[in-house]
Amino acid sequence: MTQIDAAVLTARLNELRLPTIKLLWPRLTEQADTEGWPSAQLLATLAEHEITERARRRMERHLAEARLPAGKTLENFDFHAVPTLSKAQVKALCAGDAWLEQGANLMLFGPPGGGKSHLAAAIGLALVENGYRVHFTRTTDLVQRLQVARRELALEAAINKLNKYHLLILDDLAYVTKDQAETSVLFELISARYELRSLLITANQPFGEWNKIFPDPAMTLAAVDRLVHHSTIFELNVDSYRRRSAAAKKRRPGRPPTHATSKTLETLSPNDNQTEQETCIESQSQ
Ligand code: ADP
Ligand code: MG
Repeated sequence: MTQIDAAVLTARLNELRLPTIKLLWPRLTEQADTEGWPSAQLLATLAEHEITERARRRMERHLAEARLPAGKTLENFDFHAVPTLSKAQVKALCAGDAWLEQGANLMLFGPPGGGKSHLAAAIGLALVENGYRVHFTRTTDLVQRLQVARRELALEAAINKLNKYHLLILDDLAYVTKDQAETSVLFELISARYELRSLLITANQPFGEWNKIFPDPAMTLAAVDRLVHHSTIFELNVDSYRRRSAAAKKRRPGRPPTHATSKTLETLSPNDNQTEQETCIESQSQ
């Protein structure tokens, strides 16, 4: 073997940002020499290790930035508890593809404890595992961050920064407070992502109750309009899962879950002589 300067090679691999090859070349070149590998095989092996390790690090980064609540997966989500929620449809959404590419939205409605946050996090996790970038946040926390950005005249930059996420999960939209609503940063976020980047929204109040989230009714309508234009809505209208499992443990028969429905809405304009509340009721009755 031609003598090479290990220090120089290390420096070059650093410069090329090939940390795995840098780590592995001494061992693998030695193995190749003893076992008489063709040089192309050595090169291919080194490249493969670098790619595998790079993918692993990327996934690790994407998981960290996603800020998903721990332990909420599709595997431990009990679909039987939400009988009319289609597992197949949820699985299809987890593949990402078309809906994320067109910046379509997903909305989960239902009373507290019905599994909205769990399902949102589980979908987020599945998407990260499928190579998408996701960020999960309580809506009020994000609104607070954007309000700070607005005060610093950097709202647009802050919103653009969120574009790197294929899916932004806004948990508990209805908890936005009145003073937060007044700055309308949430509206600007929704407008900026419209048909570009997807949102997953959870809320225990359907559209009819959203007036306090935005500064005025016209803005509420405009926001709802953009959100539902390309969207899938799941209604998890079931009793609190915790309360039900506690009741089941006591061997008391729980109240049977009421209906949850899902419906893909291509065009649903909330101002077609229809109150937003009715919009929701209509999709429930499907
Ligand atoms: P929500 O966000 O609708 O208020 P959560 O998702 O926080 O409800 O659910 C409350 C608790 O019950 C969480 O610990 C969650 O993991 C659990 N839970 C709710 N629904 C289910 C379900 N269908 N299968 C498994 N766990 C569930
Ligand atoms: Mg929740």
